Amino acid sequence: MSEATGDILLVEDEPDLARVMELALHREGYRVVRADTVEKALQLFRCGDWRAVLLDVMLPDGDGFSFCRIVRAEGFSTPILLVTARGAWQDRVEGLDLGADDYVTKPFVMEELLARVRAALRRAGGLENGEVLRAGDVVLHRKTRQVYRGGQTVTLRRKEFDLLELLLLQYPWVVSRETLIERVWGMDFFGDENILEVCIYQLRRKLEADGGFPIVHTVRGIGYCLREGGSVE
Ligand code: CA
Repeated sequence: MSEATGDILLVEDEPDLARVMELALHREGYRVVRADTVEKALQLFRCGDWRAVLLDVMLPDGDGFSFCRIVRAEGFSTPILLVTARGAWQDRVEGLDLGADDYVTKPFVMEELLARVRAALRRAGGLENGEVLRAGDVVLHRKTRQVYRGGQTVTLRRKEFDLLELLLLQYPWVVSRETLIERVWGMDFFGDENILEVCIYQLRRKLEADGGFPIVHTVRGIGYCLREGGSVE
């Protein structure tokens, strides 16, 4: 799943149309990943660092609006372009109200779609490198402070988030106890070293809640690191 990221997330369930769109976007140099359901789209979206989303409204397991509503509620500002049926002006109004940036109506001329994508990317500014950190199926969005495992939301407290962020920044290297305490607690540290163990315990509990394999590993006498499966002791 960690490889399934690119510039544009194309959410479209009509295979022929999706193929044509994908081809045209490829030719413009975009890396495109496709989803054909709302669920798949959310999962891919949360695991990636997308520049834009092209979003069909009528999907097999729901509509594009629910996708819009969810990702905007989670704090993402990634440009979303709706692809709506001709005449469905109510769809366009609803989509724009829910946080979509623009729309094209089917059937569209490919040149128009590409121009709208370029315009959306210009308005959004360039890529925000380093905003998304990842180890295996654990993904952390620094800007929105959202964490996902396997595409599912993981709710962390502030210190747990800071700790995970630090471990992800150093992944796969080991981070010493001293560094973690200093960087996560700093002035808030009152000499109780157990505070780190407690926080690591909570972090593991939350990350492994849905049966995920252990990812936070103890390196005895040194500190902690993230590793996909296996032990490092
Ligand atoms: Ca459709």
